[in-house]
Amino acid sequence: MKKIILIKYGELTTKKANRNLFINTLHQNIKEALKEENIKIEKNRVRMFIEPLDNQKLEPIINKLTKIFGIHSIVITNKVDNNIDTIKQNVLEIAKNIQFKTFKVETKRSNKNFPIPSMEFNNIIGGLLLKNIPNIKVDIHNPDYTIKIEIRENNTYIYENEIKGAGGYPVGVAGKGILMLSGGIDSPVAGYLAMKRGIKIECLYFESPPHTSIMAKNKVKQLVEKLSAYQPDIKLHIINFTNIQENIYKNINPDYMITIMRRMMYRISEQIITKRKCLILINGESIGQVASQTLPSMKVINNVTNIPVIRPVACLDKLEIIELAKKIDTYETSILPYEDCCTIFLPKHPVINPKLEKCIEYEKTFDYQSLIEEAINTVETIQINNQKNKFNF
Ligand code: ATP
Ligand code: MG
Repeated sequence: MKKIILIKYGELTTKKANRNLFINTLHQNIKEALKEENIKIEKNRVRMFIEPLDNQKLEPIINKLTKIFGIHSIVITNKVDNNIDTIKQNVLEIAKNIQFKTFKVETKRSNKNFPIPSMEFNNIIGGLLLKNIPNIKVDIHNPDYTIKIEIRENNTYIYENEIKGAGGYPVGVAGKGILMLSGGIDSPVAGYLAMKRGIKIECLYFESPPHTSIMAKNKVKQLVEKLSAYQPDIKLHIINFTNIQENIYKNINPDYMITIMRRMMYRISEQIITKRKCLILINGESIGQVASQTLPSMKVINNVTNIPVIRPVACLDKLEIIELAKKIDTYETSILPYEDCCTIFLPKHPVINPKLEKCIEYEKTFDYQSLIEEAINTVETIQINNQKNKFNF
């Protein structure tokens, strides 16, 4: 008897036309995530099989698999020969180690050369368990334990434990997007939700040294590292925003400072998106959370770009966002107390109903185009993974 992990695909099975892309991307993502484990992977149109080799432990494999999008469930199975006595003996051994009072047997027989039809085999196995395990009975409607047996071409798989997968689509099938990542709670969650829908992300962080510290920057890197559990290779683009921010501070009516600052961030993001061949912008805006996230503010800020902007947490309450942040293990990092570039120049009364004409008028007071160009030309890009390396593009 050998333990094999069986992967059931998620929503992708419904997308017939794109099925190959989905399966191949998922295969690639699993290979990448498990590259340090000693395993063999096989795939077909409905399942993937992961076989641990030598003394490879199951636990680290399962841990990593639960974070891969596109997986409906992860089933630990016991692979045995298609021999009736071997199957019976192994089912009994597995069932004896599980606590249950009621049970049912579900046999799937895709191998029609196997001499016993599924229904009859259910009865044989049911009888075997009733005879050998005390105080149990059959309940086909609401059993404590369902024994699943799949009789395939070369082997039979006896299910032991089925673990819920992360769901969603494999990262990459939807295309690429840029995630505006601050050190806060919301944007990492937005990135996670985007990845869950199959978007491969690259992150963009605006820093304002010396007003923001190296600690704030390290915190953002740490967040990317956390997100890399869901997408192994994540690029982080760091934009020096100091000059732009100081010019806004000097030239702009304080009430409009945040609105203009965010219009600048969007303009820069649009250029990075084009440069990196991405399709959309993702951020952690949540309706009504702060002055720049009222609907009138969002309209005026969004006005600088035609790139689609998705806001995965737009309609979630802060508590719901926090719950997700805890689940994906970014919360503790996000609440570290380092300053953000948005908060250092925070005006007393940021406008909640900004006027587009006023923004355009204020923006004429300084040459933001050349400052944006300069910021983009000096972007620093790092790749965050297990091994970190630095490069510029
Ligand atoms: P968060 O908790 O993600 O920081 P927030 O509620 O503090 O969000 P804002 O500071 O207004 O809200 O930012 C809204 C969104 O804009 C963030 O979620 C993030 O996507 C983006 N953003 C803000 N500051 C930065 C930054 N310094 N670099 C990159 N993106 C940023
Ligand atoms: Mg923030």
